[in-house]
Amino acid sequence: MDLTNKKILVVGLARTGASVARFLAERGAVVTVTDMKDEAALAPFVEKLSGRQIRYELGRHDNDSFLAADMIVVSPGVPMDIPPLVLAKNRGRTIISEIELAYSFIDAPVVAITGTNGKTTTTTLVGEIFRNCGRTPFVGGNIGKPLIDLVTSGEKVDVAVAEISSFQLEAILTFRPKVAVLLNVTEDHLDRYSSYQEYIDAKARIFQNQTPGDFAVLNMDDPIVASLAGKLAARTFPMSQQRVLEQGIYCRDGCITFAWDGRMERFPTASFKLKGVHNIENIMAALAAALLMDCDAPSALAAVEDFSGLHHRMELVAIVGDVAYYNDSKGTNVGSVVKSLESFPGDVTLIAGGKDKGGDYAPLAELVRERVKHLILLGEARQRICDSLGSLTDTHMVNTLEEAVSLARRLTSPGGVVLFSPACSSFDMFKNYEERGDLFASLVRDLPGSGI
Ligand code: ADP
Repeated sequence: MDLTNKKILVVGLARTGASVARFLAERGAVVTVTDMKDEAALAPFVEKLSGRQIRYELGRHDNDSFLAADMIVVSPGVPMDIPPLVLAKNRGRTIISEIELAYSFIDAPVVAITGTNGKTTTTTLVGEIFRNCGRTPFVGGNIGKPLIDLVTSGEKVDVAVAEISSFQLEAILTFRPKVAVLLNVTEDHLDRYSSYQEYIDAKARIFQNQTPGDFAVLNMDDPIVASLAGKLAARTFPMSQQRVLEQGIYCRDGCITFAWDGRMERFPTASFKLKGVHNIENIMAALAAALLMDCDAPSALAAVEDFSGLHHRMELVAIVGDVAYYNDSKGTNVGSVVKSLESFPGDVTLIAGGKDKGGDYAPLAELVRERVKHLILLGEARQRICDSLGSLTDTHMVNTLEEAVSLARRLTSPGGVVLFSPACSSFDMFKNYEERGDLFASLVRDLPGSGI
């Protein structure tokens, strides 16, 4: 794609938008960046781009700029239904996301991972496996570096592993991963999509441009994901924890088996550091992707055995008075809390609540009834959660995370578990889920008698 003198509008100036603008300017495009936030709020990004020929339209969107552009690149945080984008689309303007732009400049095969939960864990693990198998991967997308940074840096890699959000998939044209993974689909982001179906459709677009030489790794234990089998152009590679598969990857009796076109590999799970059913899902997906890209099994197994997971995802913070405290601040939707609760047999004190995303808390009902002894609710969503789940167990409302932790300590008996898995985003009280999880961890570590 020749970008010289092309008029390109970048919508949204955060980390991804800044990377895109820099790339486009370096390639000789005539770049305008627009964002509804004003210059003061965006100063760090503007500064990063200083010295480059870029026109800014901050604190507003001008319809004329959208209509004058040869191409519009939309950042992941910007909803596709804002009026100037709808107008531009209706007038036939080309609108793409950052992954689409990056894809047209990347030579290496792409492994793309999406799903409601587990994307970051799986993407990171795929990268670790590739590295351990002697390959040179780029790992990025929705985590760490945007995909476009791979192009800008000119880094030589033999595979690009990308975590892909549904927002990025909304505006692809040719993006075609060699291996595309869909981990699971449960309700999320209903504050951004007009319906659940719209969110599902966005996720499924990861397979849209694949051809029979590509692979679609599908989690057959997830009914929505499984319903795509047989409907895709790529070869379906199934995975399951519930069924033994003749072809695909499955987990049975403490062993993951990969079976594909005559190749059979086994991975005993006993030595894995990552625990929980959801992590078996992530590990199976990562192994599938890596082995389909010809990684060797012993090196892949060693990488999995070495991987101890990421912060804020079911992370054991401390054991205090024979009670284990888990930080799962990244549990920002109901689906992830379901999996986190499934990882414990019972005796759980669950701390939940945060910014409500408009979803339904009812899928947690059975697990709360069976496994949650005490439910502590905080944040903007606490009343909605209480209305849905409060009658099922001993439920308390608190105002702060400090109160939640100290109440959890008083309520939980030895042998129990305190799980901080909010089922909501963090923006009501915190900058992000990391800040929220860090505060939880430090409150726990400050409890008298804290230690692992
Ligand atoms: P994502 O990048 O999709 O948000 P993460 O790997 O960051 O996924 O994990 C986010 C949250 O989801 C954490 O609370 C984690 O414990 C939970 N989780 C991780 N993997 C899965 C999975 N496969 N299914 C459901 N929940 C998961």
